[in-house]
Amino acid sequence: PRASVETSAASGKSVENVVIIGSGPAGYTAAIYAARANLKPVVFEGYQVGGVPGGQLMTTTEVENFPGFPDGITGPDLMDRMRRQAERWGAELFLEDVEHIDVKSNPFTIRSSEREVKCHSVIFATGATARRLRLPREDEFWSRGISACAICDGASPLFKGQVLAVVGGGDTATEEAIYLTKYARHVHLLVRSDQLRASRAMQDRVYNNPNITLHFNTEAVDVVSNTKGQMSGILTRRVDTGEESVLEAKGLFYGIGHSPNSQLLQGQVKLDSSGYVLVEEGTAKTSVEGVFAAGDVQDHEWRQAVTAAGSGCIAALSVERYLVRND
Ligand code: FAD
Repeated sequence: PRASVETSAASGKSVENVVIIGSGPAGYTAAIYAARANLKPVVFEGYQVGGVPGGQLMTTTEVENFPGFPDGITGPDLMDRMRRQAERWGAELFLEDVEHIDVKSNPFTIRSSEREVKCHSVIFATGATARRLRLPREDEFWSRGISACAICDGASPLFKGQVLAVVGGGDTATEEAIYLTKYARHVHLLVRSDQLRASRAMQDRVYNNPNITLHFNTEAVDVVSNTKGQMSGILTRRVDTGEESVLEAKGLFYGIGHSPNSQLLQGQVKLDSSGYVLVEEGTAKTSVEGVFAAGDVQDHEWRQAVTAAGSGCIAALSVERYLVRND
């Protein structure tokens, strides 16, 4: 134990009702519901993304598909509103990363660098991180040509009617490529190996789509820009011959998967083989009673702000029922 660690959250209670870990749409929605249910939730917001709370949407510009904002809203504005709504109802927010949790016996223990909190229940909403290629000019073109979400960005004016490229050979990449053909003039699929890893059905859909060109044994090396500083192409390299060339494209979509931020739960609740938290179907219940999970950390399929928010709501309502039952 560190000398500076406090024994409870600022509320001074010895055992909190619920601790929420994460400040994306799942965490804040859970906080709003739990606070309105008078549970006085303690939220560890984390500062992993650029030292600010708010999760993945802090890294994007326009969000055009969150209901209630017909003209779109920026990711940071949307997250600031969720944060203020959670605060307004009395959620106690700490801008700290949780470093250790112990859910082997109840009350559970949650520890950050600043404090240790005991609680009867936990909502784990630490999200996921889209894998990146780490191209030399990636940061410069992130959200200005490079994206990790076709559903989020495919219809944006930046990409509509343009030639686009997708990187990856699995289900995510093939799905993204097919989805993008709805809006793009043409889609190139860059696959590093000599075959697709996607399911047979997805492969057939790609092969039968005249608007997708497959490039096997090909990797993206960097982004190329025009004199106006806009993305104009992708520098590619054949992995078999080392030959480099420029592929004309106005957008590059990463379909190389996501990593769930579930390291804290390893060995404590059941995870699937990719590290996603396993929840009982249709619920937020994990393998440990009193521990709930919401958002992208337990969802490798939908990964949307609205689905994360929905599962945060389910988790908070589940906590409420759990606490009443165990009162
Ligand atoms: P996240 O948003 O990932 O938040 C997780 C939170 O947990 C973060 O605050 C993080 O700091 C915190 N955390 C992690 N570890 C710890 C720890 N140890 N201690 C404390 N806190 C911790 N979806 C849409 O619906 N529409 C869009 O337009 C859209 N655009 C996107 C654009 C981009 C560039 C990206 C990357 C994603 C986009 N998405 C979009 C997807 C959407 O952002 C996610 O589905 C959603 O944010 C998931 O919410 P979440 O609450 O599960 O997790």
